[in-house]
Amino acid sequence: MKRDTVDILGVNIDNVTMEEAIANAVELVSNEGVSAIYTPNPEIVMEAYNDAGFADVLNSADMCVPDGIGVIYGAKLLKTPLKERVPGFELSCHLFKKLGEMNKSVFLFGSKPGVAEKAGEKLLADCSGIRIAGCRDGYFKDEDEAGIIDQINSSNADLLMVCLGAPKQEKWIYKNKDKLNVKLCIGAGGTLDVLAGTAKRAPEIFIKMNLEWLYRICRHPSRLGRSMSLPKFMLTVMKNGK
Ligand code: UDP
Repeated sequence: MKRDTVDILGVNIDNVTMEEAIANAVELVSNEGVSAIYTPNPEIVMEAYNDAGFADVLNSADMCVPDGIGVIYGAKLLKTPLKERVPGFELSCHLFKKLGEMNKSVFLFGSKPGVAEKAGEKLLADCSGIRIAGCRDGYFKDEDEAGIIDQINSSNADLLMVCLGAPKQEKWIYKNKDKLNVKLCIGAGGTLDVLAGTAKRAPEIFIKMNLEWLYRICRHPSRLGRSMSLPKFMLTVMKNGK
């Protein structure tokens, strides 16, 4: 897989369309060895800007897709434009359909107890042919980790969805990649919550107008602090631009 990446504040983001990202993901889930896909938005890029160790984790990925519209604007400001936004949730949904066609399996790891199972039911209903290799919630102690890895490995899953929130999920994948026997890991935040219906994506009109972030602030004002990373990100990009 040939990569064309753009450096956004020290994070290498793949310059791919959704279609190209899906094709890459299909290739990675079919290859030998364990691959990783991350889905950085401005908040995640800012986290990496302030934490070199986390930037190294993101840059070790086989593909980093531009999840938020802020990343697209940032790339434009840096005069290294990206083709389009590739939301992790949508990429995952396309990949689930492809997995169904290939009769491959997915292990759903993360979110509160019961959410992964509900998400699995939704996938079985929507993606003909897909197999749910296993489910495990995302609340665990350090001493549970070896058992979780055993559970994932004995499930023989092709794809592992790791939905623990950022940066926890990316760091978890990075730390455990060598112990896993899956083909592809995706760090995918709230994907299981949305599939299970315990969290909602913004209405289509907000997504089309690139205002999903505004919808999130209105629905969860407690996330305002986190959302401030978008203006901080834009200011930092402007300072770093030529
Ligand atoms: N979560 C988890 N374990 C934790 C902390 C969080 O499984 O220790 C889950 C949480 O239940 C939610 C997801 O991680 O399903 C975080 O979703 P969010 O949309 O906040 O993702 P982010 O925006 O941080 O990528």
